[in-house]
Amino acid sequence: MPGLDDKLTDLFHQVLDRNPGELEFHQAVREVFDSLGPVVTKHPEYADVIKRLCEPERQIIFRVPWTDDAGQVHINRGFRVEFNSALGPYKGGLRFHPSVNLGIVKFLGFEQIFKNALTGLPIGGGKGGSDFDPKGRSEAEVMRFCQSFMTELYRHIGEYTDVPAGDIGVGGREIGYLFGQYKRITNRYESGVLTGKGISWGGSRVRTEATGYGTVFFVDEMLKATGGSLEGKRVTVSGSGNVATYAIAKVQQLGGTVVACSDSSGYVVEEDGIDLALLKQVKEVDRGRIADYAAARGAGAQLGRDGSIWHVPADIALPCATQNELDADDAARLVANGCMIVAEGANMPCTPEAIKVLTEGGVRYAPGKAANAGGVATSALEMQQNASRDSWSFAHTEERLADIMRGIHDRCLATADEYGSPGSYTAGANIAGFTKVADAMIALGV
Ligand code: GLU
Repeated sequence: MPGLDDKLTDLFHQVLDRNPGELEFHQAVREVFDSLGPVVTKHPEYADVIKRLCEPERQIIFRVPWTDDAGQVHINRGFRVEFNSALGPYKGGLRFHPSVNLGIVKFLGFEQIFKNALTGLPIGGGKGGSDFDPKGRSEAEVMRFCQSFMTELYRHIGEYTDVPAGDIGVGGREIGYLFGQYKRITNRYESGVLTGKGISWGGSRVRTEATGYGTVFFVDEMLKATGGSLEGKRVTVSGSGNVATYAIAKVQQLGGTVVACSDSSGYVVEEDGIDLALLKQVKEVDRGRIADYAAARGAGAQLGRDGSIWHVPADIALPCATQNELDADDAARLVANGCMIVAEGANMPCTPEAIKVLTEGGVRYAPGKAANAGGVATSALEMQQNASRDSWSFAHTEERLADIMRGIHDRCLATADEYGSPGSYTAGANIAGFTKVADAMIALGV
């Protein structure tokens, strides 16, 4: 297998054989293995840990029955993959999207192990979700679905066991219904069992903004490392959720111009910059699409349906939608247009071919497990506030987030240097995340 040393090739084949057809999981494992060659050469004792690390500690699959507004019964499938608890309780979001299956949840859970380790906070890795499609469902249907989902999930989670949060399709509304059902069933006000809660009932300030803000703090550190800043930079941001919205907000606060943004229906280009207040009104209040935003903006906004947002020239590109949204062709266009930085706000949005084109083309690339760790890091801050029955100010929490992102950035570069790949955020993130978890696994015994 090109690029992998013999021991890792053998381990990778074991993962493929044991998990047939789980393509995204294979991709996520391969991306980490690609960085581990120098680590197993230096520390052969890690090879056994890698084998253990690729097998989740526990995988739960369950039936989620619910009734729609017309009285018809539906069945969805629920998942929770408790991947690794060496550093703390399993921690990671729940995704409600029709594409969800075991392989997707495992790829996300696997990434989460390293991401969570990089934050420096005591959280293990896990992920869950369902193939339920919230699109077009009424408030009451979403509530009944969440209640049914938690009616099974509650027995597997807890503030010291496994702490879910949101991901695609799961925001504050869904966390509220899930928490309400957990409280009802257990008769406990156990705030630390879920994160992403509302501020008045145990949530943390900045959690909603955290992933997007954190990604931009990370980019800011990348720029500062070479004497630059966001001031005057052209930025493109994909995705229609919280990550994209608050990435746009922070870019604008730091002096950059967001010249294009998107959702699954298309993208909009505005040379003078996106109007964030209007975008939030359309997306968050009216639950509308990018086309509605473009129509409301009028002549200055061009709606693109062909091609891709990545064909719009930009200094910095932030894929914040979903896995494998940016391919080799998009990457080639970014390189040709002089893009300097691609940082992943979503989980694994660049295909392996795209990453190759970007790095060979001189673009500085930051993988999601480093660049989007601000969301889960702020979840860990929410757990801290819950454990001490405290509630921090916005300014204090944002400062902690900025510090954590700076720490991740610096750790990535220092580790990349130490293992012979100076400047590679990929090598730095994978190796720093891996060694932290591996050392804990060795210390805790087989
Ligand atoms: N879903 C987010 C992620 O991909 C956050 C998870 C959490 O806060 O636990 O990291």
